[in-house]
Amino acid sequence: MKDMNNVRTARYYLDKLIEGNERFYHKKNYAEVDISEAMIKSLEEGQNPFATILSCSDSRITPTIIFNQGLGDIFEIRLAGNIISSEALGSIEYGITAVNIPVLMVLGHQGCAAVNVAIEYEKGEGKYQGEIKSILERISPSIKRVKTRVYKDLYQESIIENIGNTLKEILKSSIVTDAIKDGRLIVASAIYNFDGKVEILDVIS
Ligand SMILES: [Zn+2]
Repeated sequence: MKDMNNVRTARYYLDKLIEGNERFYHKKNYAEVDISEAMIKSLEEGQNPFATILSCSDSRITPTIIFNQGLGDIFEIRLAGNIISSEALGSIEYGITAVNIPVLMVLGHQGCAAVNVAIEYEKGEGKYQGEIKSILERISPSIKRVKTRVYKDLYQESIIENIGNTLKEILKSSIVTDAIKDGRLIVASAIYNFDGKVEILDVIS
């Protein structure tokens, strides 16, 4: 059964992320990250992050910075193209089970090079070796899906589709869906635009 107190708590923490991005975007009241010895010492005993964010590895969208949070606040999982893998899902499930993290966000971004490379790969262009292919193959189904419908901008629409696809894969986990069902977890997908704004695409609670 859904515990409404849990739901309110999870929503409060999602809002905390959104408000942090507003400070970053508007350059207003941006809080300096506390790197004092006392702060670092206080984290020695353990962590109590309030959000898990699965994002692209892109160096321009560091979650802790763009959401104006501090050390110990965000459990970051970062993979090129914000793809899912069994290890990424394991990290998400660990965050829910062992750390009781109330927010989970999938964060993609405008101008994601991994998606662009996957589009080239789809066309049979580009020569990518090693494990880069395993990333591109995770993104390919989203590109194929966009191509089956009428689209205006394959690149931008594939970025959004790929974020949704990662979210869909995550929702196959019963650890995730059980946590949503009893209100312990709120899940969101979002896109970071290069003006600094994070746009929420979907919220599941
Ligand atoms: Zn990217």
